[in-house]
Amino acid sequence: MNPSYLELQGIRKTFGASTVLDNVDLTIREGELVTLLGPSGCGKSTLLRCIAGLTEPDSGRIILERKDIASLPPRSREVGMVFQSYALFPNLTVRENVEYGLKMRGVAKKERETRCEELLALVDLADKRDAFPQHLSGGQQQRVALARSLAVQPKVLLLDEPLSALDAKIRKSLRMEIREIQKRLKMTTIFVTHDQEEALTISDRICIMNNGHIVQDGSPEALYSTPRTEFVARFMGSYN
Ligand code: ADP
Ligand code: MG
Repeated sequence: MNPSYLELQGIRKTFGASTVLDNVDLTIREGELVTLLGPSGCGKSTLLRCIAGLTEPDSGRIILERKDIASLPPRSREVGMVFQSYALFPNLTVRENVEYGLKMRGVAKKERETRCEELLALVDLADKRDAFPQHLSGGQQQRVALARSLAVQPKVLLLDEPLSALDAKIRKSLRMEIREIQKRLKMTTIFVTHDQEEALTISDRICIMNNGHIVQDGSPEALYSTPRTEFVARFMGSYN
């Protein structure tokens, strides 16, 4: 396994006078699930958007498998992203949503159908293939969003608070499901949340963010038992 599959080096982003990302460095190993955990407004989404190519950093390098992808358009980056609110196309069926990215890339119909069926089986939604998003529950919609982002076989999966809009019970079961799928596919994943319990239970490694910095980076156990700053102690301590 490549120990530096994805490398962020000195990522800086300002909006007007405010520095939202302040020289962020982060190295992620192939197949690892790293969680960015921090309070609202600390820069988590902005960092993911920089990786996905939806926001341009002021400076810094984004290296995926030894290639700097920072100047590539989003579609060429081989990065998949799932957002908090279900960003499915409302006028397309589940199957059409999942196949969308493949169609855009000119993948033949037969192969699209095969891959779509595999993915719908993976997220346990084969029986909903012809349904429209509005007829699905929130949890089901997020599973479609996950299948859709996996369809194009990304090298990195970015999950931006994918569970935050769901109610507690669904949140927990979908969290376990996401972790299982991530492990099965050995998918290199960055998971963003502001929820300590979620981070502690889903991650190989947690990066605590505050004010545009990663303030501590370690295993869930290390962060919980040996916080290095008062901020980390207070933030981790608010989970009980
Ligand atoms: P998080 O995801 O951790 O809640 P964000 O990355 O969304 O934080 O935002 C970090 C900071 O950057 C916030 O103060 C937010 O208001 C600001 N911000 C994010 N996007 C923009 C933008 N497009 N224009 C101006 N400010 C922004
Ligand atoms: Mg956010």
